[in-house]
Amino acid sequence: MSRVTLEGVGKSYGAVTVLKPLDLDIADGEFLVLLGPSGCGKSTTMRMIAGLEAITAGTLRFDGRDVTQLHPRDRNVAMVFQNYALYPHMTVADNIGYPLKVAKVAKAERQAQIEAAARKVDLTPYLARFPRDLSGGQRQRVALARALVRSPGVFLLDEPLSNLDAKLRVAMRAEIKHLQRSLGVTMIYVTHDQIEAMTLADRVVLLNDGAIQQVGTPDEIYDDPANLFVAGFIGSPPMNFLAGTATGGQFSAPGITGLPCPGTGQLTLGFRAEDTTVTEAGRFTGTVYEVEPTGEATYVVLQMGPHRVNLRCDKRFRPELGTELRFDLGAGQVLFFDTASGQRVR
Ligand code: ADP
Ligand code: MG
Repeated sequence: MSRVTLEGVGKSYGAVTVLKPLDLDIADGEFLVLLGPSGCGKSTTMRMIAGLEAITAGTLRFDGRDVTQLHPRDRNVAMVFQNYALYPHMTVADNIGYPLKVAKVAKAERQAQIEAAARKVDLTPYLARFPRDLSGGQRQRVALARALVRSPGVFLLDEPLSNLDAKLRVAMRAEIKHLQRSLGVTMIYVTHDQIEAMTLADRVVLLNDGAIQQVGTPDEIYDDPANLFVAGFIGSPPMNFLAGTATGGQFSAPGITGLPCPGTGQLTLGFRAEDTTVTEAGRFTGTVYEVEPTGEATYVVLQMGPHRVNLRCDKRFRPELGTELRFDLGAGQVLFFDTASGQRVR
């Protein structure tokens, strides 16, 4: 069991800073997801926690103990990578037991631990098989069991599902969450997929350009985004944005007049497709640009001045292209951001 604390942990390569100093306290048994676009510094953060990459600023602690300089072998962490290569010439049992063999654990003891790890990921019937005779999901579970067999205090998973097809990814997602809950281990999980982050995490850390944008529960970052980046990154379809002007507590943009708002100057209104209601009395208006039925709902793309917005409507709703549509939003469903800085205005 381990609590992981980052105190101003940062990374530079020479003069190039790829990770600004991060402060983060990860609770024992927490499922923490590092989320962000490619190149934002997720893997670098993970590799520093694992000890595979030198920490160039700050202090890393496990259960309060300074491990900044500790060798990876002595950190009691296990890592599963996106490319979790299994040894093709070894059976499932030998693959799972490989870290124990390297650590010179005696054979009988090794066998018991292999069986225990295989049980946790439902691989018991497959121990004698070779990787080529397994499905993608089973191979993924072998990689997980190989990490589990060392009973690590901290589990690090870097995009472990990226190589799987969409259906399997969804199934494995539930398995990983279930496994984390049942073992009660601290898990730090890297992904660029916001749905994966939302579904798995106790807390999400959203990174961009090597800096934390927001830390919060999935509900917090979805409902209460700190800035335009967070608001636009989380959710599908992404949040609608309309740039406009605020004067005397009223916001105006093409298709909207007299919407109460905080602040003055150049603001951007943000709202989500699912919070809109099409109604003749609506304060917002636009023309129907395109209609997209998905089966469970119909998304209407509305042209409002230079902007296009998405409305989530009834699944049988089929407005004509080019017609005018009015809609409205509830009080708590309207967010404002400073257009220049991107920061939320409350
Ligand atoms: P992510 O996992 O979020 O996609 P990484 O942590 O792999 O991103 O990389 C973060 C940034 O660090 C990237 O911009 C990458 O180009 C940079 N980087 C990684 N390794 C080096 C290196 N050896 N020298 C300089 N820059 C590097
Ligand atoms: Mg990466």
